[in-house]
Amino acid sequence: MRTLITEKELNAGVNRLAAEINAEYGQRPLTVLGVLTGSVVLLADLIRKLNMPLRVGVLQARSYQGATTTPGSLHIDADMMPDIHDRDVLIVDDIFDTGRTLLGVLNHLDSLKPKSVKTLVLLNKQGRKEVEVEPDFYGFSIPDQFVVGYGLDYQDHYRNLPFVAALEPKEIDQLLS
Ligand code: 5GP
Ligand code: MG
Repeated sequence: MRTLITEKELNAGVNRLAAEINAEYGQRPLTVLGVLTGSVVLLADLIRKLNMPLRVGVLQARSYQGATTTPGSLHIDADMMPDIHDRDVLIVDDIFDTGRTLLGVLNHLDSLKPKSVKTLVLLNKQGRKEVEVEPDFYGFSIPDQFVVGYGLDYQDHYRNLPFVAALEPKEIDQLLS
């Protein structure tokens, strides 16, 4: 495992993101929606640095992969989400990879008629984008590598690492065997 972003760098990145969000919204009330589960660490760190009247909610986005389902088909569970009608909404996710998750979430929220929706991710992976949308705010641009830590998992492990690390392909094979 190779550290890609240290705890100190993450802290500085989240501070910078929070400053951008504070500048963008000022004292306008904001609803922050974390995409489960990967966003939880970022969500907890980020919201404590935001200064406007804030509501926090979560939703879950899962892409089904495998022979029995359409590859990339996205299931969104928004049962735990607060009402966002006529609200300014900021979606928070761990990583932008192909962008399909964020696009799916945006399409879903659109039907609920919020006043505005913007998106924030911690990591923006380069060279994998398959959709037209891009995150409005992101913490770090990273190369096309599989990363874990600071909320990001490999088969539900490593979310608790306080740094972001790249998992080498041979380590992934070892964990699978
Ligand atoms: P997208 O829909 O943009 O292709 O992928 C977004 C989701 O895929 C993320 O929310 C995350 O759950 C997962 N993902 C994409 N790349 C990585 C990665 O490098 N590491 C981990 N742990 N998850 C990833
Ligand atoms: Mg995710």
